[in-house]
Amino acid sequence: MTGTPPPIDPVTTSPDLPAECEVAIIGAGIVGLVAALNLAERGVPVVVIEKGRLAGEQSSRNLGWVRKMGRGQADLPLALESDRLWQEMPARVGADLGYRRTGILYAVRTEGQLAPHEAWMASVGNGIDSRLVSNKEIAALVPGGQEDWYGGIHTPSDGKAEPQLAASAIARAAMAKGAKIVENCAVRALSLSGGRLSGVMTERGEVRCNSVILAGGVWSRRFLGNHGVSFPTLPVIASVLRTKPMDGPTDMAVGAPDFSFRKDHTGGFTITQRGGFIAPLALDSLLLARKFLPVLGAEWKQIRLSLGRHFLDDLSMQRRWPATGPSPFEDHRTTNPPVNDKLNAEAMANLRAAWPAFGKAEIARTWAGMIDITPDAHPVIAPLDELPGVVVASGFSGHGFGTAPAAGQLAADLATGAAPLINPAPYALTRF
Ligand SMILES: Cc1cc2nc3c(=O)[nH]c(=O)nc-3n(C[C@H](O)[C@H](O)[C@H](O)COP(=O)(O)OP(=O)(O)OC[C@H]3O[C@@H](n4cnc5c(N)ncnc54)[C@H](O)[C@@H]3O)c2cc1C
Repeated sequence: MTGTPPPIDPVTTSPDLPAECEVAIIGAGIVGLVAALNLAERGVPVVVIEKGRLAGEQSSRNLGWVRKMGRGQADLPLALESDRLWQEMPARVGADLGYRRTGILYAVRTEGQLAPHEAWMASVGNGIDSRLVSNKEIAALVPGGQEDWYGGIHTPSDGKAEPQLAASAIARAAMAKGAKIVENCAVRALSLSGGRLSGVMTERGEVRCNSVILAGGVWSRRFLGNHGVSFPTLPVIASVLRTKPMDGPTDMAVGAPDFSFRKDHTGGFTITQRGGFIAPLALDSLLLARKFLPVLGAEWKQIRLSLGRHFLDDLSMQRRWPATGPSPFEDHRTTNPPVNDKLNAEAMANLRAAWPAFGKAEIARTWAGMIDITPDAHPVIAPLDELPGVVVASGFSGHGFGTAPAAGQLAADLATGAAPLINPAPYALTRF
């Protein structure tokens, strides 16, 4: 079923494409927009070029969790820096992005489910305020529950921000500081002169530039494939539902093995089936199978394979095209994958059984988003050896909203040769 994507706080972007700039950013998701904000603040001429609408894909459709808890070793520096940057962001952009440190709790049913959380706590030491909690403590944190939880993990300093507000507020601030943002304009290819980057070719003509940040989300693989660079990501689809405004047990974001919920800015709750993502099979599933197989057991255990329309759609989509176009991006302005009503119903039923207050929840809307997953579930934020002048910032593997403030800044640093915010080594493409 096609869902109804959540409304994005509207932004008036530029109708005109500049002929030149210093840095061109491909994709107005939250990562590209944060990069633009940083560059504009440094006085660097920058344009963000978006094939559809600002934040139309993952960046407005996500759950809005901002967490350090459970982050892998490579992702943790990004999460810690982002924690600080999220706190500064409202003053920096002059708007409320819905960032609140309301805490995040994961509740588990078995010793085996708690073990990875215990191992993670041991691996990060005392730097983060996460702590293991008992069933009694869960009942105090999130009243009205019916389940006898084995235990859980709670991080009071984690929190949330509002995806439908945050990217828009960052975009407005970037524009106020000098960035240009152009929507409905696909970047077809890079312009290369003598093997060196000289600009980007869009459906409305060329923009000359010295650097490019490719922040194209699920599309970065196809874009780079056209230039002969293999960027290993596969798509998975997550379905989400939002309730009408209601009283609930907590403002904290809560995850269990087979559901999660958090109160959002509409007064409703954003809910998903944590134990279920759909991996639509496509030619890439075969091409990349060997790279992804080693992680199938760990990160991929919640994934359900599906052979459907996506297979044929994907097969008919061009893999190579000339810069004079047209490219696949004009035909796919905004990816709007089908909602899996079964997964949403499962999430709702599991949640109602655990916290009966949700028995009276009425569903306001449902939607789905397509996520770009890498073989180790960590992003790539790196200059490309094969294409000097191009920095890729993609493959955020379902975690990139929370880490966007640091990820976008790091991409801006790498594109301009500034001192990097954090050590970029863990995010190199060469690790694959
Ligand atoms: C359902 C769901 C739940 C999630 N929950 C969370 C969460 O709770 N916490 C968290 O941290 N993360 C979460 N995520 C992940 C998070 O949303 C993403 O990691 C993050 O938004 C990625 O941002 P991005 O800017 O890289 O990509 P996107 O937001 O996907 O933006 C990429 C943009 O590039 C544009 N583009 C691509 N190619 C071209 C081209 N050739 N020319 C012009 N434009 C182009 C696209 O149209 C798109 O707008 C979730 C994701 C989903 C879908």
